[in-house]
Amino acid sequence: MKQDVSEKITSLAKRRGFVFPSSEIYGGAGATWDFGPLGVELKRNVKDAWWRTMVQLRDDVVGLDGAILMHPRVWEASGHVENFTDPLVECRNCRKRFRLDDLPKGEELAAAWRAKKLDLSGVSCPNCGERKLADPRQFNLMFKTFVGPVEDTASIAWLRPETAQSIFVDFENIQQTTRKKLPFGIAQIGKAFRNEITPGNFIFRSREFEQMEMQYFTRPSDAPRFYDEWKETRLAWHVEQGIPREKMRFRDHADDERAHYAAAATDIQFAFPFGWNEFEGIHYRTDYDLRRHSEFSGKNLEYFDDVANERFIPHVVETSVGADRATYAILCAAYDEEPDKEGTRVVLRLRPHLAPYKVAVLPLSKNERLVPLAREVWSKIRPAFMSTYDETQAIGRRYRRQDEIGTPLCVTVDFVSLDDQQVTIRERDSMSQIRVAIADLVPALREKLGA
Ligand SMILES: [Zn+2]
Repeated sequence: MKQDVSEKITSLAKRRGFVFPSSEIYGGAGATWDFGPLGVELKRNVKDAWWRTMVQLRDDVVGLDGAILMHPRVWEASGHVENFTDPLVECRNCRKRFRLDDLPKGEELAAAWRAKKLDLSGVSCPNCGERKLADPRQFNLMFKTFVGPVEDTASIAWLRPETAQSIFVDFENIQQTTRKKLPFGIAQIGKAFRNEITPGNFIFRSREFEQMEMQYFTRPSDAPRFYDEWKETRLAWHVEQGIPREKMRFRDHADDERAHYAAAATDIQFAFPFGWNEFEGIHYRTDYDLRRHSEFSGKNLEYFDDVANERFIPHVVETSVGADRATYAILCAAYDEEPDKEGTRVVLRLRPHLAPYKVAVLPLSKNERLVPLAREVWSKIRPAFMSTYDETQAIGRRYRRQDEIGTPLCVTVDFVSLDDQQVTIRERDSMSQIRVAIADLVPALREKLGA
């Protein structure tokens, strides 16, 4: 049943144009995905909701849109060249490769490996069944490329594996141009790339993805308090996006599993159909990044506190959420089925601010007298709401189609409308219907959408 929901969402996403496998006509491009006409709207709404909450509604956070390509020294300073690795296990029999922690009992194996007590001699290859797994080797997850026409070590560039580094590298520029005082944050949404050994679970783990990250710079002594605050702030945001509190939990990282830069770290996990998994991380990164960039660039990135008359390197609390993972979690939380007279009604119970279309305009039929009025109604509401128009098939089928993609409201134009200049608003969740005058339609829709 659980797997079933996963398949249903993947199939709905494909069938209705939310998410397609990238390069599908060539057989796909290995766990990369394209967001189709509805998916791009949904994901954009998720990103807009994050940006509004994290930047526009706060007086202590500003935004940034940094370049993907950065100076290669950035990734040496950040520790990624040295440490951004996964243990890779290869089967000496079938040559298949696995991430150590993706093997059966992988978390135990990974813990044993970190404790330098790993013994794979009794572990069978999940592919061929032979007990011929070689000891893990470190595999760097960064994509390497070359800048300019010559492919030599002097021209190496990396596709960024996280957006955070441009925030650290631009810290001084941003602090000076905005004249922000601590504590303050810098937020960014952008693409990141990781050469995952075993991507999978639909858009959960892919090699190209989008992050929504915020680095909050504080005095060292304040950092633990802000770490706790941001945990709750971020959890509350997900609840506002329609994810039930009971489908999320924190998972604190053990001392030996934290990323190389973190002094404390927790995941916000979501009950995905394939199990509890991380979709946001909150990390106390200490002064690691700014200190390392000071060392590697030779530029002093200390902050001067003119009240205390002190110079120090700020500490950082990071919140980092995958836009794709958040979108997936929102889809999973919104997916619902209920029995009806035609069998099953599939409803995406998306919050209105996230729904790809807020309103669908539907003439009762394709009748030549109805269509012009329906189109006129659509042209009235189109500037106010992302909306769509559908005149094909029976009206019941069209309601179902809108339910399935999460459209909160349908506006139906019928023959009576021609005389009384009124239309019907039908709600997705309750399926209740009311009549309103076309002249009052936009305010009526706005009220129902809470927009
Ligand atoms: Zn094998």
